[in-house]
Amino acid sequence: MRPLNPAATAIAESGIRQMMQRAAALPDTIRLDIGDPDAPTPPHIIDAAERAMRAGATRYAPAAGLPALRDQLAHKIERRNGWRPRPDQIVVTQGATQALHTALAVVARPGNEVLLPAPAWPNYRMMASLLGLTPRTYPLHADHRYLPDADEIESLVTPRTCALVVNSPSNPLGTVLNEHQITRIADLAERHNLWIISDECYDELVFHGHAFSPARVAPHRTIAAYSFSKTYAMTGWRVGYAAMPQHVAPVFARCQEAQLASISTPTQHAAIAALTGPQNNVQILRETYRERLAHVTAVARSANLPMAPAQGTFYAWLDITNCGIDDDRFARELLDKHRVSVAPGSAFGAQGGGCIRLAVCCPNNVLTTATAALVAFINELRASADAQLSV
Ligand code: PLP
Repeated sequence: MRPLNPAATAIAESGIRQMMQRAAALPDTIRLDIGDPDAPTPPHIIDAAERAMRAGATRYAPAAGLPALRDQLAHKIERRNGWRPRPDQIVVTQGATQALHTALAVVARPGNEVLLPAPAWPNYRMMASLLGLTPRTYPLHADHRYLPDADEIESLVTPRTCALVVNSPSNPLGTVLNEHQITRIADLAERHNLWIISDECYDELVFHGHAFSPARVAPHRTIAAYSFSKTYAMTGWRVGYAAMPQHVAPVFARCQEAQLASISTPTQHAAIAALTGPQNNVQILRETYRERLAHVTAVARSANLPMAPAQGTFYAWLDITNCGIDDDRFARELLDKHRVSVAPGSAFGAQGGGCIRLAVCCPNNVLTTATAALVAFINELRASADAQLSV
């Protein structure tokens, strides 16, 4: 048998998926392990897809996306993200996932190094491996409020570095980078002629003000990836988009042609309806997540668990090192003993060890039950540590 591509077989199963599988086998488990909104897709978006299908929009779309959608996306980016790409700088993608994978494929060649945040969404590393790139991580330290240090990033640049991935608002941290932090990163990218791959898929889930896109200060070297998944509770529809310098877009679209021909046409009609329809659902989702994270923040404070500042997304990042066991064991025992499933921090890279991530994608009363169970579990751990000390 001919061997498989080692770049493909080297991709490890995500630690989040492992936890999900374990949790799925246990009935009545509260699932805080995956970032999938608990709200349904708003009905006017579903209706638009249905209407489009009945009207015959069931054929291939252009590789770069429906022109009407690209027009709307250009307006959206100007309105919400503070920079002004033209429609021909935008390509509709199969979620931010494919936007990021294609962005890396477009800018990097095998053997290049790519700088990734740590802890981070594990898929960046998988994409880099599949493309034959060497991932190097820049740490986001708790004692630096989990913000990137531009000097530290710069110290990691080598002649082989071609791109830098920035993720704000951050999964798993829930932190948001401000103009100053982004500008410092853009400056170093300029000095070293690096591409900036900016993952902005939580752009609408920021609790105070707006996220600041690197494209505002470095549009000529930024490919920004966005998504409908979280903003409109459309994770299963698989639609996102990337905005980039004008000369990159046709190359990006041709890669997309090679990968998947085009994005589902009815889904693109649904995306138009999402952008042009009422936006109050977005506001409701944002406020709901803000309140839930405020609840987790209060619980974490009372339980003496350090937590990353909850500035956006729907994730709470809790440091559990003072509980006496590692994050993997913590997540497994919390699941087995209390039927609450969370993601162990090390699923987001070694830098995430000693932490857990809670996705607050469940009704408020369920979240309250889950946090009460979390506190009970922590008390059990601490009591057993005290008992061991006193023997
Ligand atoms: N980027 C980050 C940081 C994510 O957390 C996710 C999904 O969880 C994605 C990208 C992918 O989003 P999409 O559903 O648009 O592919």
